[in-house]
Amino acid sequence: MKILSVASEVYPLIKTGGLADVAGALPAALAAIGVDMHVLLPGYSSVMAKLVNPVRLLEFDDLIGVGAAILACRLDGIQYLVLDAPELFDREGGPYTDASGKDHPDNWRRFAALCRAAALITETGLDDWFPDIVHAHDWQAGLVPVYIKHTTASPVPTVMTVHNLAFQGQFSPAIFAELGLPQSVFTMDGVEYYGDVSYLKGGLQLASAITTVSPTYAQEIRTPEFGMGLEGLINARSADLHGIVNGIDTEVWDPAADPMIAAGYSHGKLKQRQINRKALAERFGLDNAPGPVFTVVSRLTWQKGMDVLAEAADEIVGMGGRLAILGAGDPALEAALAEAAERHPGKIGVIIGYDEALSHLIQAGGDALLVPSRFEPCGLTQLCGLRYGNVPIVARTGGLADTIIDANEAASAARVATGFQFSPVTTDALLQAVRSAIRAFAEPKTWNRLQDRGMKSDVSWERSAARYVELYSRLLAARSDKQPSDD
Ligand code: ADP
Repeated sequence: MKILSVASEVYPLIKTGGLADVAGALPAALAAIGVDMHVLLPGYSSVMAKLVNPVRLLEFDDLIGVGAAILACRLDGIQYLVLDAPELFDREGGPYTDASGKDHPDNWRRFAALCRAAALITETGLDDWFPDIVHAHDWQAGLVPVYIKHTTASPVPTVMTVHNLAFQGQFSPAIFAELGLPQSVFTMDGVEYYGDVSYLKGGLQLASAITTVSPTYAQEIRTPEFGMGLEGLINARSADLHGIVNGIDTEVWDPAADPMIAAGYSHGKLKQRQINRKALAERFGLDNAPGPVFTVVSRLTWQKGMDVLAEAADEIVGMGGRLAILGAGDPALEAALAEAAERHPGKIGVIIGYDEALSHLIQAGGDALLVPSRFEPCGLTQLCGLRYGNVPIVARTGGLADTIIDANEAASAARVATGFQFSPVTTDALLQAVRSAIRAFAEPKTWNRLQDRGMKSDVSWERSAARYVELYSRLLAARSDKQPSDD
């Protein structure tokens, strides 16, 4: 089975969030069960700099108005296909924004080019490699099903995965004429969305199957509260909608062999963990009070409930907890958390920024991980928290609800709890969960049991990769049923 995956970020080449982790880990997990996934991504300058001996396989004179080429490069067993289009991708800033944080004004062209290239690859192949299925991730790849359906002679099946419905890629109708799509696609059955062009909506409308990254989020996005205006369409397509929870790369996230932490450890041998706890306290300037160190690794945004955390910070400290927060995002929330740290020197430490290595130390040295998200398609940090014995305290929503078992009485008696859940996302509910955690932390046996169970839970890709393969197989079978046969 040959799959072309299309994503705007892929770890370890380029990452701003969980999408990159998933797009990077899935090909390796699939390779382990004999599925050949190539990954197409944009040739941002930082990506180009990491390629080793890339091979130029395909050239385009006019890909949505620019010259471009596909470069193939195999790194650490993953086959990358990089869209080399300097006019679109060789620039300062992040994948989506300029150096000042503003969206690139031609994002519509940049990601339409990526999608068009994917569709063209299904027709021309690359050195005789023809994908059987194309798997598109998020709005940046939303036009993949659209181009495949409307511009290729023999459309291959497509899968559209939603990692976060909040980002939809909505642009002025004026760009439609430049996309090279038939006029008939600018309708309600295509990419038209309240008069604009919506890339994600087009993808959801035309993909053979839709997946999202947890069963609970798959249900939630059918409601107005979480559907972000697309709930009608998603409901109409509910027969083709699947929730498949993400895993994490258990080699990158392995407390027994993690070069980014102060001391390796494994379940049953948690004493060594104290060395990481000490290193963490030093990095965040925390004193060594007896209460738990609550940690956060997150984008600092409203979605992630960081305003609620900022409001709860004083009381968490009042209850004897400590806070170590790593993140970047909304300037007002960055400021609110920094102020909390100033109010409580030695008790709250805040580091603003993006720091991969520090995120590992936090998981290795923290006692509990706070994830108060208002919505969370899957969430990865809580999976890392489980694996590292950093007990997750999560909002009961989306993938958080699916991956953490709340330490309520029944679950505790049955010895299956792995963390704490709370709902709704309010300061009171968060503080209630923090209080329960502080109580449990005061009984080392109880706490160690929670940690140990989390560390033993399966957060790998194995099960989820198998579910994707099941879905791919079903789509291929449906396709061959439809195709005229010779006999
Ligand atoms: P989202 O994709 O919505 O940001 P996820 O929990 O799915 O949230 O994935 C976030 C990923 O990014 C995790 O791997 C997390 O460790 C990482 N991350 C988030 N913020 C930071 C940061 N400031 N420094 C390092 N890693 C971060």
